[in-house]
Amino acid sequence: MPFFIEVVLPLALAKSFTYSVNEAEYAFLQTGMRVAVPFGRNKIYTALVLTKHQTPPQLYEAKDIHQILDDYPLVTQKQIDHWQWIASYYMCNIGEVYKSAMPSSFLLESETIISSRPDFNVQDEELSDDEYLIYEALQKQSALKVQEVVSILNKKTVLPVLNRMIAKNAVSLQEEINEKYKPKTIRYIRLQEEFMQQEQLSELMELLSRAQKQREAVMQFFQLQATEKKAISVKMLTEAGTTAAVIKSLIDKGIFEEYHLEEDRVQFEGSNEAGFALSPKQQQAFEEIKTSFTQKDVTLLHGVTSSGKTEIYIKLIEEYIATGKQVLYLLPEIALTTQLVVRLTAYFGNEVAVFHSKYTNNERVETWQQVLAGSEKAKVVIGARSALFLPFSDLGLIIIDEEHEQTFKQVDPAPRYHARDAAIVLANALQAKVLLGSATPGIETYYNASHGKYGYVEIRERFGNVMPPEIILIDLKDKYKRKRMTGHFSDEMIDAIAETLYNGKQVILFQNRRGFSPWVECMTCGHVPQCPQCDVSLTYYKYKNALRCHYCGYNIANPTNCHKCHSTDLNTKGFGTEQIELELKSLFPNKNSWRMDQDTTRGKHGYEKIIDSFKNREIDILVGTQMLAKGLHFDNVGMVGIMNADNMLYQPDFRAFERAYQMMVQVAGRAGRKDVRGKVYIQTYNPLHNIIQQVTTNDYTAMYKEQVYERHNFKYPPFYRLIRITLRHKDYEKLKDSALWLYNVLTQNIGVPVLGPEEPGINRIRNEYIRTIMIKIPGGMPLGNTKKNIERTLSSFEAVPQYRPVRVTINVDPY
Ligand code: ADP
Ligand code: ZN
Ligand code: ZN
Repeated sequence: MPFFIEVVLPLALAKSFTYSVNEAEYAFLQTGMRVAVPFGRNKIYTALVLTKHQTPPQLYEAKDIHQILDDYPLVTQKQIDHWQWIASYYMCNIGEVYKSAMPSSFLLESETIISSRPDFNVQDEELSDDEYLIYEALQKQSALKVQEVVSILNKKTVLPVLNRMIAKNAVSLQEEINEKYKPKTIRYIRLQEEFMQQEQLSELMELLSRAQKQREAVMQFFQLQATEKKAISVKMLTEAGTTAAVIKSLIDKGIFEEYHLEEDRVQFEGSNEAGFALSPKQQQAFEEIKTSFTQKDVTLLHGVTSSGKTEIYIKLIEEYIATGKQVLYLLPEIALTTQLVVRLTAYFGNEVAVFHSKYTNNERVETWQQVLAGSEKAKVVIGARSALFLPFSDLGLIIIDEEHEQTFKQVDPAPRYHARDAAIVLANALQAKVLLGSATPGIETYYNASHGKYGYVEIRERFGNVMPPEIILIDLKDKYKRKRMTGHFSDEMIDAIAETLYNGKQVILFQNRRGFSPWVECMTCGHVPQCPQCDVSLTYYKYKNALRCHYCGYNIANPTNCHKCHSTDLNTKGFGTEQIELELKSLFPNKNSWRMDQDTTRGKHGYEKIIDSFKNREIDILVGTQMLAKGLHFDNVGMVGIMNADNMLYQPDFRAFERAYQMMVQVAGRAGRKDVRGKVYIQTYNPLHNIIQQVTTNDYTAMYKEQVYERHNFKYPPFYRLIRITLRHKDYEKLKDSALWLYNVLTQNIGVPVLGPEEPGINRIRNEYIRTIMIKIPGGMPLGNTKKNIERTLSSFEAVPQYRPVRVTINVDPY
């Protein structure tokens, strides 16, 4: 009697594969265990057992497995079901879901690169002979491939040995990141030792008699020292009115000395973290959510920015874990800051686990095991979208904060899933509840809430009765006409910044483009330098004096002559964050301006470093892209300026208006705290545009009604489901032919509207031309059949020899 297992491989393959096992293995193996299997020529992969059976495969001879890797299932049946749903709904292969769901050290394969860990101490751990051999080899060379380990150990099955070494922290996989972010230390100031004595002090004052501001700063320092009776931080001194520049010159002169101390913990404002109480409004929302959960599995918490949604989440989490349930707290990657983690760990202690790509493989594996075991150490899992793939054993609640964020949708590679939607399906299978939170809910979400599919709870007030920010529109057309502009700043914007800084508050400026200017133009012949590999103009970077492509990274030195006509009369057009930062430096030379965009946050913790410095008030003005809009809390921001609202409005995308609204309301939400009302200045050529007006009056409902009307008219979600097929190829003609063929056959086969084939706004990236086809499926129509027909059509497409090299990707519910 033969014995077989059905397994999934971490590869983009549609089906499962059959391997043969012996009777003992058959008895031992269970669904969700991993096995090492040979596949293709000489390759070994870590496969996952789906089922056991006794039917030999018809088309091939089943190979034997190499080795069983687990003593117990690492993946639950419910997870496999969910992965299968993802594969079928998002039209990808189960192998692709398996591959992206598991931490990579669970997926050792023959191609994996293994390296030694510098912090591993061989004296502390006992190594078996095999393990020692590998350890020794890694002292001589920096990395080994699995195949090399096979020849060193002279045995076929090396994955178990490697797995043990990973568990002992003796080796790591090359792609992993080991470094973890430590919260920044706080900068303090003291007087240099030599000035401590009374007599030197008068000498010092004498010394500073002609530097009025520095003299004042020293006085202020003494005053603070007398009243506070503790170490004086740079932040305290700047709050008292001394500028960062003055402090710096005192340090340079050797009068002040700076030193650093670690901040123990981020504290909740005005209360200690253990015992805050909800405000009456928060309490009411909290009760309403619980009532809503008795009838609806999904509830939307629509609370304006700073309404204190996080505190409501905390109380809710507390109730779920008190009953022994697990809670998953999903956030957009970028909002997952150290601050939030610290805030939650301060509250829930060791019961919180964090799961996202910045954590090392070891940490992710550990969290996986804890979640699987239902351990006390991972009752609350905070994570970005991939935390959805963890092996929850008893999940009670999923919170999805900033649910409108488009980064919840994975773009590349497959599975191109939407974490919010996939979480709702998961919760349904596990009988857990879902709370969606946002100040600016996605149109689809609000539609579901207003049609009774989801419960709905609203908070219209900010916590602590802070007033909503006041929005002031600045008409750029008028300002330019009356010559009231300095660079890209209107006189009103400059005055507002100056006043805010004068009052000791900080400023945030939002500009949705990075670089100095998005293109350079020849004033003689009109030529604009383009990327040779992409259909885009090159962005000018002044500081680096270079032109750079934002799509492929191609860059060249800034040309002095036009490439076409050799004229030297070149001009930059448009503006980005770098230009704004430079203009600020000349408008406010004594202030510290900083920039936060993809260019300045590249390092592993670049983003958090800037956030920390801004929180510690070492930065007066922060200029940034949409990164600024992601649920950050700063307690000293007096105003927010939006440099140009128009480039958000005119994007060729049916979500452009919704996004522009969300972005502006979210950035505006960073302004204002307890004491004074925050102000938001918006520069625009279209002050009367509906979206701008809706932002000004904070009228979400008006925005929603208008957008939903448009969506209905033009056949978009939530009324139609979209599936976008993208074709890419280096040969323009071949691509054009193939796209037309696919379009024609789809139109005949699927009986729903098919649009295209279209050349997208940017029709070539990295030398590949692009065409898209959009399929619109009416709401209420079952999707299964349409998807089957699409799949069938794609198989016949791939069967046409000249189309085979065309790369095709499918995106269901594209964002
Ligand atoms: P949002 O709704 O934008 O997520 P947060 O939950 O971050 O708002 O709350 C905004 C601010 O108000 C935070 O600084 C938070 O610490 C404070 N806050 C909210 N609720 C309370 C409370 N019940 N007690 C003390 N501070 C609170
Ligand atoms: Zn020219
Ligand atoms: Zn390019």
